Amino acid sequence: MQFRLTDEELELRSRLREFVDSFSAEDMREIRREIAELEADRQAPRTFAPRLAQQEVLGMGWPEPYGRPATQTERFIAHEELDSAGLPTYGMEQAEAVGWMLARFGPAALAEQHIPHILDGTWSYAGGYSEPEAGSDMLALRTRATLEGDHFIVNGQKMWTSGAHLANWIYTLVRTEPGSERHRGLSLLMIDAKAPGVTIQPVRVMGGWRVNACFFEDVRVPLEQVIGERGQAWRMMAEALDIERSMSFGGRESRLLLARYLNRLADTGTELTEAHYAELGELVTELEAERLLGQRVVAMGERGTIANGEASMSKLQGAATAQRTAQWLVDRLGADALLDESDGLAGDVEHFLRAATVLSIIGGTNEIQRNVIAQRWLRLPRA
Ligand SMILES: Cc1cc2nc3c(=O)[nH]c(=O)nc-3n(C[C@H](O)[C@H](O)[C@H](O)COP(=O)(O)OP(=O)(O)OC[C@H]3O[C@@H](n4cnc5c(N)ncnc54)[C@H](O)[C@@H]3O)c2cc1C
Repeated sequence: MQFRLTDEELELRSRLREFVDSFSAEDMREIRREIAELEADRQAPRTFAPRLAQQEVLGMGWPEPYGRPATQTERFIAHEELDSAGLPTYGMEQAEAVGWMLARFGPAALAEQHIPHILDGTWSYAGGYSEPEAGSDMLALRTRATLEGDHFIVNGQKMWTSGAHLANWIYTLVRTEPGSERHRGLSLLMIDAKAPGVTIQPVRVMGGWRVNACFFEDVRVPLEQVIGERGQAWRMMAEALDIERSMSFGGRESRLLLARYLNRLADTGTELTEAHYAELGELVTELEAERLLGQRVVAMGERGTIANGEASMSKLQGAATAQRTAQWLVDRLGADALLDESDGLAGDVEHFLRAATVLSIIGGTNEIQRNVIAQRWLRLPRA
């Protein structure tokens, strides 16, 4: 067993650390201003996306000829370095998901239209999977696309669509094959977010996140805008889940806040009690476990091993540890700290306490993750 990075991986990490260090305190404030102005949790298309594009970390590991050769470990390193510095990477994750599908499954003309804009950070994307009655059970979706000549006509509603109000395109899961059921007959359509018939309404959830309800009323989508093979979206999406392997659900943000808190203690010479030290030791252990669970998923992906149960463990652990860390920091800082704006830490911690609650829902709820662990890891029969 080896946890050592290769020379190339170490080189990537130090290059990204230099990139992260190039963001001044004023740059970070500007990013935060943009995020607040656009209601764009973890996305900053003007201040961050163009600088990120220059780093050539988008498209890592996508199939030739579109992508940049890279291992899953390299992708993990890229995400970890950027997230751990508090940079807004959500747009990157969305663009990577759709870019990878285009590079892997085509069609070539659509890939050639989109990939240059993904790599230079000029187009942004939102993923339209969930619906009001189809979240955990996504296959219950009702959005339909009916073929008329060389266009689909799309009708339906998507829900919780993060970033749709900023996106140029919404890649949208719809039923295209009449009479099909469940995972059969689904297609992923690239829908222009400004197309006639698309209405995007804000839905504000706990923690200051803005998601969206997206309505599609007789939206015309050219047949060439099917990503991959028509009617085969489910197979493609199962593979695309690999792309999510390097995501951390709250662990990296927790580590950053904890580090800022410890720095503050050092700066002010504040002492913690023995009991607080013990709690801190436990939290750090939990956070390290979260990181190692994530690394295990990446290592298994690298070997081509299916890691469904392990990925669910990593997600569960991330959300739970983030919520515990946020609560612990809020308790330690106390209400008075909110009035002290010297380093903004208390405000960020309080925001994270609220934002971390949704981590148990986004990307599949805790209950669904536990079901996956029971069925795929413990191999228990379905209830
Ligand atoms: C902030 C945020 C951002 C999001 N962004 C996106 C996005 O960009 N794109 C997108 O498509 N979706 C997005 N989602 C949607 C997210 O994936 C769904 O909310 C999630 O999958 C749960 O679906 P639901 O909300 O419909 O809840 P439901 O599926 O209705 O679940 C309700 C409750 O029942 C439980 N439950 C359901 N089925 C089972 C079961 N089989 N066993 C045990 N318990 C069960 C759930 O755990 C939950 O507690 C986002 C959600 C949030 C909160």
